[in-house]
Amino acid sequence: MKNKILLLAALLTAVVGLAFFPGVSQAGLFGFGSRTQPPAKNELTLYALDMGQGDSFLFVFPNRQTMLIDAGLEEAGDTVVDFLKSLGLEKIDYLVATHPHADHMGGMQAVLANFDIGQVWDSGFATGSPFQRKFYAAIKRRGIPFGTPKRGYTRKIGDVLVEVLAPVRELRGTRRDQNNNCLVLMVTYGGVKFLMAADMEREERATLPEIPRCTVLKLAHHGSYNGTDKKLLRDTSPVAAIISYAKDNDYGYPHREVVKALRDLHIMRFDTADGTLKFSTDGKRLTYDKNREVNGFGR
Ligand SMILES: [Zn+2]
Repeated sequence: MKNKILLLAALLTAVVGLAFFPGVSQAGLFGFGSRTQPPAKNELTLYALDMGQGDSFLFVFPNRQTMLIDAGLEEAGDTVVDFLKSLGLEKIDYLVATHPHADHMGGMQAVLANFDIGQVWDSGFATGSPFQRKFYAAIKRRGIPFGTPKRGYTRKIGDVLVEVLAPVRELRGTRRDQNNNCLVLMVTYGGVKFLMAADMEREERATLPEIPRCTVLKLAHHGSYNGTDKKLLRDTSPVAAIISYAKDNDYGYPHREVVKALRDLHIMRFDTADGTLKFSTDGKRLTYDKNREVNGFGR
């Protein structure tokens, strides 16, 4: 088993240029402070927030700019705001709304009320829901630059490249149109890639010409079988997966087959249900809290 993992690490190193050896070179890297400690210079940091059922992720770029992807449920708004303030933030440079569902957009009003916002990236999938109407109205009122980037849009933030992988085009008539019009981002720093799959389901995934490999995958749709399957995990081939969900949620997330697929493929698993997570990279190495890894890999 150990040989297999080392072989996997060697293969990954060869393919994506990662200095990454689970259970070996990571050992000296776990000394970082609490997850609310501001990130170090020259590092890209991803915080996966524990804010109940939903999604909220914060990137702090090496140039200190910030990107908040989603803001959880309405009742999670204060938790999200408190966390951002605990890092000393006053401004969110990029506020991303992946899609209009309440567990992603509900907390946006609290975020808008408490921070300067540089610009908003939105799915552009208008549902007319009260959450979305209030969100759009607040952005307009404050004159915040607003865009609906599609596949092919890229943005260099310092030395980090942010690419929009989806949506390719607007999809209607799928099983869940809001999920199938999600903004999906790849965030790349050196040889380390974070794929933020939002709640993308199979129909949206099928519109992508390819799914690139990544180092860390934010599992699609909270570990639901319609978002994440073995094929997605094989295609993206991550070393670590983040599952965003609340314990005892009404949907049975993460689904059993997803949990099993992660184990079968020896992918490290990290759950926001167990508390906020922090991942950092200098562009070569990925640093994570080994105590939060659920599958017992990478220790
Ligand atoms: Zn969701």
